[in-house]
Amino acid sequence: MSAANPILIVGGGLGGLAAALALGRRGWRIRVLEEAPQFGAIGYGIQLGPNVFPMFGRLGISEAVLRASNLPPALVMLDALDGEEIARIPTGDSFRRRFTHPYVVIHRVDLHQVLLEACRTLANIELEASVCAVGIEDDGDQVRVRTRDGGSIAGAAVIGADGLGSCIRASLLNEGPPRLIGYVAHRTIVPMERVPHGVLRDEVVLWGGPGYHIVHYPLRHGAEFNIVAVFRTSTYAEKGDARGHREELERTYRDAHPAMKALLELMDLERRWAISDRDPIRHWHRGRAVLLGDAAHPTLQSLAQGACMAIEDGVCLAELIDATRGDFQAAFQRYESARVVRTARVQLDSRALWEFYHAAGIARDVRRLTVADWTEEHVFNCLAWLYDGVPMGQTAHS
Ligand SMILES: Cc1cc2nc3c(=O)[nH]c(=O)nc-3n(C[C@H](O)[C@H](O)[C@H](O)COP(=O)(O)OP(=O)(O)OC[C@H]3O[C@@H](n4cnc5c(N)ncnc54)[C@H](O)[C@@H]3O)c2cc1C
Repeated sequence: MSAANPILIVGGGLGGLAAALALGRRGWRIRVLEEAPQFGAIGYGIQLGPNVFPMFGRLGISEAVLRASNLPPALVMLDALDGEEIARIPTGDSFRRRFTHPYVVIHRVDLHQVLLEACRTLANIELEASVCAVGIEDDGDQVRVRTRDGGSIAGAAVIGADGLGSCIRASLLNEGPPRLIGYVAHRTIVPMERVPHGVLRDEVVLWGGPGYHIVHYPLRHGAEFNIVAVFRTSTYAEKGDARGHREELERTYRDAHPAMKALLELMDLERRWAISDRDPIRHWHRGRAVLLGDAAHPTLQSLAQGACMAIEDGVCLAELIDATRGDFQAAFQRYESARVVRTARVQLDSRALWEFYHAAGIARDVRRLTVADWTEEHVFNCLAWLYDGVPMGQTAHS
């Protein structure tokens, strides 16, 4: 790569930084443009499946990620009305034997920090905060990212890693905004000492109820407790205040198990996120621009795989750019072939799982019956397509 022609990455989230690091380690000159004033300054807990660990291995950060992670003993689903256990996926020894790598939870800020520190050790990666992209111009020989301050930055190619509301995607595709599904999330991290004993558990717990769910787990080696409350609401798009949100939560969760109500008491309700996704599409690139992560295939969080997919994308794309020695057309096509169906399956299965979590009435009875005879082996087999990961080496060099 000529020094004047870096690869531009718009968005310094987990996907963008994974791509930057993977390319940077192979000697490519990279400029990461991030609109926020600081990289990775905020975030909540995040679950990572075993499929993402081979990516961390390729990025040289597995140990650092593991040091910052909690290893929960199981993923547990509870019925939100009567508290009965619906399903349990052990994530201890048998899981490790089956999937080789662990299932972990980590503070997103800590994961970001690991990626950032690794990027900062490489002189060929420039991390530029407070740069907001507003569009691109591709003249065939190079691409230019236009920025909000009226400037433009030239590069050999641009990777749109700018998340759900991607402006790079908007430059490539003629379509509307993401699909709002009528649900919102509130997220909170509380110090462990504030969590009442009756609700404290060391597993990743999901309470599934009619039109709502709560997920919680300990973080930072048991110092903190992460809680996410998600529910259907007709007011999702409206700006509310914490008091209004509290009243709405009390109405929504009125029939929920007392432990869930105790969890809601701990929630900070200032901020809410509208939940949305998009239908899968087959093509994520045009000319010298390509998408990854949420910009390419935004998904509901039911499988807890959005960030894992963004990181897999980043590593795969980087390896293909390198393997084709910067033949971007070839690299982008091979990247799509490698990634589109897998990520589409995550999007579509996440939608199905979303219904399963929120089953009401007779569907709730069916849910119980469906899982009644599931064995550990059966559950592991069902998850193998996802947790076994992808044969990256073969993809990059085939
Ligand atoms: C409630 C909830 C829980 C979740 N839990 C999990 C989980 O447990 N496990 C999991 O794997 N996934 C989870 N996800 C999904 C995960 O958060 C996303 O899929 C993941 O963050 C996508 O990464 P990304 O790098 O593609 O985009 P993002 O993380 O959204 O990063 C995009 C970056 O681009 C920047 N940016 C945006 N626009 C511009 C612009 N115009 N110019 C410059 N920069 C820009 C943003 O500031 C941001 O830094 C969850 C999502 C939600 C909502």
